[in-house]
Amino acid sequence: MRITFYGVRGSFPVAHTKVSKVGGNTSCVALRAEGAPTLIFDGGTGLRQCGRELMNEGFGDGQGQAAILFSHTHWDHIQGFMYFEPFYRAGNEVTVVARAQHGARLKQVFQGQVESDYFSYGLGSLRSSVDWKGVAEGETFQLGPYTIETVRLNHPGIAIGYRVTLEGKTFVYMTDTAPYDDQLLGEGFHERKPDTDPKVIAELEGYGEALETFVSGADLLLYDTFFTPEQYSANPHWGHSTPDEGIRLARQGGVPRFYNFHHHPEAWDDELEGRTRDYQTRLGGSDLEIGLAREGESVEL
Ligand SMILES: [Zn+2]
Ligand SMILES: [Zn+2]
Repeated sequence: MRITFYGVRGSFPVAHTKVSKVGGNTSCVALRAEGAPTLIFDGGTGLRQCGRELMNEGFGDGQGQAAILFSHTHWDHIQGFMYFEPFYRAGNEVTVVARAQHGARLKQVFQGQVESDYFSYGLGSLRSSVDWKGVAEGETFQLGPYTIETVRLNHPGIAIGYRVTLEGKTFVYMTDTAPYDDQLLGEGFHERKPDTDPKVIAELEGYGEALETFVSGADLLLYDTFFTPEQYSANPHWGHSTPDEGIRLARQGGVPRFYNFHHHPEAWDDELEGRTRDYQTRLGGSDLEIGLAREGESVEL
């Protein structure tokens, strides 16, 4: 399988010469495998370029099959949705997967962002078929030849991570999440203090252990490294993580390749490149490859 990065930023897209090497579009990653539907993770502004390339891979003839799997529906993960060209060619088949919290409402969540106050046309203008599929965190399902597992992430409103396995290769897509150390985010907010309800602490520890199991044995972990450890300390409730926490998970799970992803909008090229080299030297070594997700680049598994 081949993983290609189309959008690697978090929060909002950035246009600036200082991000020209790493890229400024928001979250979108594609997984291609011979003879299988294309899987796309999140539909941030990177989805536009992804769709353009797919038009030369069968989608231009109305014969493409893809699934877009959303971590959650915050702006930086959905803003490319209506700019995905394969939607506008009859015959293409697209499955939209997102957390089942939205259930039957899933389509309305996407319709909401294209109400006439915000956009020129609605979902009725899409020409491909669209299958709306809600999944529960922790659910495992089959999509064509892929086995896909999900896990709850620590993010305001809850996000989900995906673990995709095909022919013995496994890719884990895990953004947006805070470590399960300091607080439990979701529908509410619980800070971990000495007097915190033991039930909340047990929940935190359970979710944390579930993440460790989830990444275990994967070939590649793509992870939310929005913050440096210092930035995280200042804003632990934002629902984002650090390279240190991701590398800990990768090491614990015996994952050989770890890629930094969902970069802070003000993390310039030099800083991200320098930091990645530094982590490779300090915490990577010869048995863990620490990479930097850059727009337009691919990783083969
Ligand atoms: Zn995000
Ligand atoms: Zn978010």
